[in-house]
This record gives sequence, structure tokens and C-alpha cells, in this order.
Amino acid sequence: MILFKKATDLRNYLEVQAVNNKEIGFVPTMGALHQGHLSLVETSKNENDLTVCSIFVNPAQFNDPDDLKKYPVTIEEDILKLESSCCDIIFLPSVKEMYPQGYSAGKKYALGQLELILEGKYRPGHFQGVCRIVDLLLEIVQPARLYLGQKDYQQCLVLKKLLDLTNRSSIELKICPTLREADGLAMSSRNRRLGQTEREKAPLISKNLNDLKSSLRIGSIPELEETASRKLSQDGFKVDYVEIADAGDLSPVNTWDGEQKLVALAAVYLGDVRLIDNMLLN
Ligand code: AMP
Repeated sequence: MILFKKATDLRNYLEVQAVNNKEIGFVPTMGALHQGHLSLVETSKNENDLTVCSIFVNPAQFNDPDDLKKYPVTIEEDILKLESSCCDIIFLPSVKEMYPQGYSAGKKYALGQLELILEGKYRPGHFQGVCRIVDLLLEIVQPARLYLGQKDYQQCLVLKKLLDLTNRSSIELKICPTLREADGLAMSSRNRRLGQTEREKAPLISKNLNDLKSSLRIGSIPELEETASRKLSQDGFKVDYVEIADAGDLSPVNTWDGEQKLVALAAVYLGDVRLIDNMLLN
């Protein structure tokens, strides 16, 4: 495994590989790696000649400075995990390397409604920050395939749009399933910040999404959302949203016709830890 810290060094190395027709799979992460991240690396390993994993806690996508400060950083463990997964290349840039002019201002991406709903509504500017870093990373890595987790459902749609907006439709977007703990909790770097009681409660998020799935009937949707949201609040979660949306574009759904593909998405706090999850309903 080779570790690069400088964008130009990585670019120069990958240019040589491109001459030899090597196809590159790219897995962007913010580190504090878990099996969910590693499953993306494994999938990329199976489908490409070379796999690049980046680890960069992107300050531009944190609307809350406190959340950024508390984001877990475990670089040494991460490197060992990637080595065990036989990842070929790690890219570990500094903030200065990625944003030499600072990260507060920059290019704006025309994401439309997608950045104003759900995560976008509760984390203003978040998806602009995500696009900014992924745009920069794609320029450096120039992969054949980009690996993302369904765990961040809205982010997958945003990045699909980024590929369109930046004329990178030749990059194949691979959306990989959410890996879960045995009790159903979606794996997340943020789970390490949960205390014992919170950790015991956390599987109720996926349980409620599963309950929503089993209660889905033709007809009105808001009651289902309200029931799930009320149950989570009663169990001590602070609920940002529980929403059922169109699985293709996340537009809101009021009445289900029995045909439309739906996804349920939730964002909740346990103490000061914000967790998200989602489930395809049909
Ligand atoms: P993050 O480090 O949280 O920014 O995540 C990096 C990538 O890993 C994103 O594409 C995530 O969607 C994906 N990912 C995070 N958690 C999981 C999980 N539990 N299962 C599968 N992929 C995940």
C-alpha cells in the first residue's frame, strides 16, 4: 500500500498507471473507518486494477464547528485497516493541501431542491461542501468508478448530480449497501461517540424504519412518518426528521399509489451525537 499526502505526487503516480490502462476505483471517506467503509474498498478491489481510498475530514461540509471538533480521528488504526483490506493507495491530504486559499468561499454547484430538503434543510451548506471536496478529489484521482454507501442516501443523489454538472458522466457510480451491526444499527464513525445507554437505544432507529416498511399501505403517508417520529421522541431521541420520499429524487410523498418506489429517511440526535439512516420501503 502506498500513502500519498500531496495531490501532485498522487496525480503523477496515477498518470503513469493510466498509461498502462489501469482502471481506478475510488472510495472517499472521512476516516474513523469501520467495516462499512472497508466493504466499499473490497468491492472496488474486486472491480478495478487499483483502489484509492482518501481520508479527509472535510471542514467545508460541517455547518456546526462543534461537530467538526468532535469528529473522531483514528488515522493510525485506519491505515492498519486499509492495509489489511489490501487497499492499494491511501490519500491523506492536509486541509492546506486541499484548500490552499481556505475553504470558506468557493465554487457553487447548482444542486437545486436536493440541497434544500432533508439533510440540506438541517445542515445548510453541507452538500455544497461535499461537492467541493469530491470535485477536487475526482480531479486528482480521475477514477473509472466511484464507490459510495447507501447509508448516505441523499449524498449519493447529490454526487450523481455533481458528476452530471461537471461532465464526468464517464465515471461509474457504484452505490453499495449499508452495513449494519448485529442489532441493526447502521455502522457509522459517529457510533463511537455514543455512551453505553445511547448505544443500547440506537438500534431503535433502524427498528422504526423497519416498522414503517411493514406498515406501508396504499394511501396516506404523513401518519406513518408522525408515528415513527413520535415513537423515537418518546424513546429519548431528538428527531430532526423521519420522512418518506420518492426513492429516485427524494421529492416528498403524501399519498402512496402502491407503485411509486419509496425510501424512508431519518436523522436523530442521541445526546449530542447526530445519526442518520434510511431504508428502501418497496
Ligand atoms: P464517511 O467517512 O462517513 O464520509 O463515509 C465514507 C463513505 O462510506 C460514504 O460513501 C458513506 O456512505 C460510506 N459508508 C458510511 N457508513 C457506511 C455503512 N454503514 N455501510 C456502507 N457504507 C457506508
